[in-house]
Amino acid sequence: MKAVVLEEYNKPLVIRDVDIADPGVHEVTIEVKACGLCLSDVHIAEGKVPTVTLPHIPGHEIAGVVAKTGSGVKDFQAGDRVAMSLDLYCGRCDYCLRGETNRCDNLARIGFETDGGYAQFVNIPASNLEVLSEKISFEKACIIPDAVACSYRAIKYVGQVGVGDRVGVLGVGGLGMQAVQIAKLMGAHVIATSRKDEKCDRAKSLGADIVINTGKKDFLEEVKKSVGQFDVVIDNIGTRESVLEALAASRRGGKVVVMAFVTPELTVPGYDLVINEKQVLGSRASNRNEFREAMRLVNAGLIDPDIEAVIPVTQVNQAHEDLKNGKFQTRSVLSMDFE
Ligand SMILES: [Zn+2]
Ligand SMILES: [Zn+2]
Repeated sequence: MKAVVLEEYNKPLVIRDVDIADPGVHEVTIEVKACGLCLSDVHIAEGKVPTVTLPHIPGHEIAGVVAKTGSGVKDFQAGDRVAMSLDLYCGRCDYCLRGETNRCDNLARIGFETDGGYAQFVNIPASNLEVLSEKISFEKACIIPDAVACSYRAIKYVGQVGVGDRVGVLGVGGLGMQAVQIAKLMGAHVIATSRKDEKCDRAKSLGADIVINTGKKDFLEEVKKSVGQFDVVIDNIGTRESVLEALAASRRGGKVVVMAFVTPELTVPGYDLVINEKQVLGSRASNRNEFREAMRLVNAGLIDPDIEAVIPVTQVNQAHEDLKNGKFQTRSVLSMDFE
């Protein structure tokens, strides 16, 4: 099969022929149709993810068609349209037994610690698959496991957003655009921020009630004027400054959900934490059940994954360059046409 291979860090990715094994027991071979472009892929190519080994096929946001099934696979057959969870969890550690599969002691991730979806085919456990409705394109579906499901977890389970909550989504991009839609679905009043007008406009078109261009206007003042304070803030920026601003804009007892890991050490004012009972919570990836729920909501037409460019895999190096330089407003994806 053809695949995009990272042979050396900080060198262009190479398209070449690679052998693929037959699917093992309880495994399926997926013919990859589309694969999401994530900043993690750029970090992998730059050698910033220490668990990756070379040569490596990146790509962890995969949608496609079942091509072959290994022995013991009963729920899927060749031709099924699917999207897949990227976590290879063990199913037997303390965390897995609690259903907290994203915290698995023995976690490996497709496209990180194993070869991923920048390829014609990939082998994965059948238990990682969810059926994809005919109505949803592969290009939209491939971003469900990461961009959609991560935001879903942060909003529904970590932030526990409910009807009427005033929710801030700081920094709308690949994840934040999905977060705007999901928070609206939960019945929230949503305020989104960006330093770019185009991103503010896009967030508005996805349902944000209010958008603030923080390059032009004072964030805290605008929040005060519009909703007063936030009940929940989803922080996709993840810097010391963004967390402090999010806390300052939150009500007593409010929650700040931090989704981006940028500043190694964050500062939380003790007064806000103890006296004002404000909560700062981290949210990482999604567990198997949260992915399943996100798939259902997309299949039912309740979430419409927001994607921008669909780029042929042959232009993968340019796509990585554009991703690194912040050229995309939201998630963009590779289509697996190697010809
Ligand atoms: Zn990712
Ligand atoms: Zn486990």
